[in-house]
Amino acid sequence: DLPLTQADPEVAAAIAAELGRQQGTLEMIASENFAPTSVMQAQGSVLTNKYAEGYPGKRYYGGCEHVDVIEQLAIDRAKALFGAEYANVQPHSGAQANAAAMHALITPGDTIMGLDLAHGGHLTHGMKINFSGRLYKVVPYQVSEEDHRIDMAEVERLALEHRPQLMIAGWSAYSRQLDFAEFRRIADTVGAYLLVDMSHFAGLVAAGLHPNPVPHAHVTTTTTHKTLDGPRGGIILTNDAGLAKKVNSAVFPGQQGGPLEHVIAGKAVAFKLAATDEFADRQRRTLEGARIIAERLLAEDLAQAGIGVVNGGTDVHLVLVDLRHSDLDGQQGEDRLHRIGITVNRNAVPFDPRPPMVSSGLRIGTPALATRGFGAAEFTEVADIIAAALKPEFDDGLAASLRSRVAVLADKHPLYPTLTHTNGA
Ligand code: PLP
Repeated sequence: DLPLTQADPEVAAAIAAELGRQQGTLEMIASENFAPTSVMQAQGSVLTNKYAEGYPGKRYYGGCEHVDVIEQLAIDRAKALFGAEYANVQPHSGAQANAAAMHALITPGDTIMGLDLAHGGHLTHGMKINFSGRLYKVVPYQVSEEDHRIDMAEVERLALEHRPQLMIAGWSAYSRQLDFAEFRRIADTVGAYLLVDMSHFAGLVAAGLHPNPVPHAHVTTTTTHKTLDGPRGGIILTNDAGLAKKVNSAVFPGQQGGPLEHVIAGKAVAFKLAATDEFADRQRRTLEGARIIAERLLAEDLAQAGIGVVNGGTDVHLVLVDLRHSDLDGQQGEDRLHRIGITVNRNAVPFDPRPPMVSSGLRIGTPALATRGFGAAEFTEVADIIAAALKPEFDDGLAASLRSRVAVLADKHPLYPTLTHTNGA
């Protein structure tokens, strides 16, 4: 039983290179974060060997006494963190959490309403070739053309017209808070369930810096690896005992076989850490950083180059750059930032005239840099670097100087300083 570097030098080398990439560049993909070493140690443990179909105390396999402790810790901590009565911590991913939630709440052929993918929704909220678009009739709602915010009057009009069985509130690329109470009122009016997918902003909710959807939604789902900073995975929360039973059977045996107890252990650790003051401080810096970047990108010098910010700012951990009126498109913007060591993703913006593979937007997020320790001063410097990179004057000389400013920031806040190639275990 050899260590990885000897058993598989090729994989070990690629992991080492990825560690170097993460350490040497500025990660600003809004859905990414750096999991703590403790979370990665739990994930890289012997728990990966264990079958545990079922739930704590009710398993279909022997030898579950220790994984029961771990899964129960994850459940109890998730409940406490989000003020929920019931939690299922087994979904392998956010997509599977949503699939299971829908499986629990509605029947194929039913009608669902979700935010249009092109306006910031997620694939699982009704995209045509996703399971959600294939199993259910989809009525997408959009943001309004004037202010790029979700227009609740339009949501209500569509709900009354189409009478969905399920309404979904949540997003992957939207920079404002949602009105969960209003979504619930509309859902109740038409007799629909309300599913809130808080994948992106769950860390902000845990820190008390964003309204908590759990009291409003019938069921709430989230990924655990975005602002929440845990292992890659999903969870499902509810306050309704009857729905909790349906959710449990929709996850297992409805969607999944054996739960990933090594990932569930990582979730348990992440939920413990997410209840600390240090985590809350980090989420505050995340929000502050996004506001600083939005303000810089709204300045006159960028407006002159046709660059703006979708809906004029942000209340969350990300900024959507609006390039619809700029010669620079999303692909070129992403490439320029990549060249100077900043990783973001291009993203369609509402009413985007360019095709999705090119797009007229950039999604820029601050969670991973806040985890690295960035505060207002560093985010101000990052904002300046991004602004300089997007302007028409960008050339090779400027690229080199921006790259070195990125390196200074990366050196100031070292990432995983004790790791070499794997999880340090
Ligand atoms: N829900 C939302 C709102 C998301 O943004 C994402 C991921 O991007 C998911 C669900 C899916 O999560 P996963 O990639 O873990 O399947």
